[in-house]
Amino acid sequence: MTKRQLEVLIWNRECETMPRTDLRSLQLRRLRETVARAYQRVPFYRRALDSRGVKPEDIRTLEDLRRLSFTVKSDLRDNYPFGLFAEPLAQIVRVHASSGTTGKPIVAGYTRHDLDIWTEVMARVLAAGGVTDRDVVHNAYGHGLFTGGFGFHQGAERVGATVVPVASGLTKRQLMLIEDFGATVLCCTPSYSLVIAEAAADEGIDIGFRWQLRVGFFGAEPWSERMREEIEEKLHLHAVNIYGLTEIVGPGVAVECPFQQGMHIAEDHFLAEVIDPETGEPLGYGQKGELVFTTLTKEGMPMLRYRTRDLTTLDDEPCPCGRTLVRMDRVTGRTDDMLIIRGVNVYPSQIEWALLQVAGLEPQYVIVVDRQRDSLDELEIRVETTAKLHAEGAAALAAAQAEANRLMHQALGLSATVMVVPPGALPRSEGKAQRVIDKRQR
Ligand code: ADP
Ligand code: ZN
Repeated sequence: MTKRQLEVLIWNRECETMPRTDLRSLQLRRLRETVARAYQRVPFYRRALDSRGVKPEDIRTLEDLRRLSFTVKSDLRDNYPFGLFAEPLAQIVRVHASSGTTGKPIVAGYTRHDLDIWTEVMARVLAAGGVTDRDVVHNAYGHGLFTGGFGFHQGAERVGATVVPVASGLTKRQLMLIEDFGATVLCCTPSYSLVIAEAAADEGIDIGFRWQLRVGFFGAEPWSERMREEIEEKLHLHAVNIYGLTEIVGPGVAVECPFQQGMHIAEDHFLAEVIDPETGEPLGYGQKGELVFTTLTKEGMPMLRYRTRDLTTLDDEPCPCGRTLVRMDRVTGRTDDMLIIRGVNVYPSQIEWALLQVAGLEPQYVIVVDRQRDSLDELEIRVETTAKLHAEGAAALAAAQAEANRLMHQALGLSATVMVVPPGALPRSEGKAQRVIDKRQR
C-alpha cells in the first residue's frame, strides 16, 4: 500500500498520529480534568477517592492513575440507572444500555458533546477501513439501546457515506437490500455476517458476482482469525475487527488498521491499562491481562479505571500505518466467560481455536457443560460441518469428529466430547452469538 493510500485512511491525522510524548501530556491534562469533574459531581467517585485519601490535585503524572480505585460492573448496577452521571438529565441527550443477560442493564448517558466525540471516533473506525462518501453502508447492528447500530450510523454519516439503518433480523430482506442498494460496506456482529452469508447461499445468490460489498466492520463479540478467513471468503469482503463497550462509549474504542496487527485504541479519549486480574497490579506492554479504561473526555458518565473483564495485551511498537496509538490484541475471552471444568480453566476461544483447525467444521458451535449428581463436569461441544463434509458421508464425519476430539484434548488438557451436527442444525443469532450453555448453575 502506498503512503498516499494510507494517508486517506486516517480520519484525524493530528490526533491519530500525534507523537507519543505529546499524546501523554494531552492525556494527563484530560485525566486531571476528568478526575476533578468526577470528584465534584459524582458521589460514588468522591467516596472512592476519599476512602483512599486521594484528592484530584494529587494526580500529577499519568502514573498517579494507580492511586485511584477500580470501577467494576457491579458499581454500575448499584448506581442504576443514573447514579454515575456527572451531568443533570437536562444535559443528557441520549441513553444507551448493554444487553445485560442477568438483572438490570448497564446504563450509559451522553451529553451532546459526548455524542460528538463518539461520532468522531466512529468516523475514524470507518475511515480506517477506507469508507468515504462514495460508499453505501448496510448497518445491520441492532439499533436501540444497544450501542452498535447508532454508533455506526453516526460515524458513517460523518464520513459522508449513504447509510442504510437496516438493523438486525429479517435476513431475507437484508439480502435484497444489500443487492438492490449496492451496499459496499457491511456492519454487524461476526456471527450475524455468517448468517447473512448462509441465507444468501440458500437463496442461490452468487455473492461475488451479484453483491458489491468491499469491507465489513465486525465486533461486539469474540471471533478468531479463522472466522475472519471464513467471513472474507464467503462474503467477498475485507473483514475489519472493531472493539468497544457501552460503559466506555460503545463501538469506536479501538479499530484495526490495514496492517491488522491489533486494534488502535483512541487513546486521546480513552486511557488504557492492562492489569493482572488476580492482583490488580498494572502489567507492561506485551503482557496479557485485563483491559482497564479511564475516559478522558466524557462529560455525561466519566469512567475511572473501569475493569472491562476483557483479556488482551497492549503493544506500543510503532505501526507502519503511521498511527501512534497503542494497539490491543484480539480479545480472547472475558474473565467472566471462563469456564472452570473439573478444576481446569477453559475459555470458549480455546475451544473455537481447536474446532477450526479441523477441515470441514464451521464456526457454528455450542458448548454445553453439565454435571450429573455427584459426578464430574461434562463438556460437550456441538459443531456444524460444512455441506461438503456432510455430503461425504458417515466415515468422513467420524474422522473429522475424531480429529476434533484429539485437538480439543490437546488444547484444553481435559477430555471433552465433540459431536458434529449437520449444517444449519444449531440456532442462529442476529446479534451476539450465545455459545455457552452451563447447566450446572441451575
Ligand atoms: P455486554 O456486556 O452486554 O455484552 P456490550 O454491548 O457493551 O455489552 O459489549 C461489550 C463487550 O463485547 C466487550 O466488553 C467485549 O467483551 C465484547 N467485544 C466487543 N468487541 C469485541 C471484539 N472485537 N472482540 C471480542 N470481544 C468484543
Ligand atoms: Zn496501524
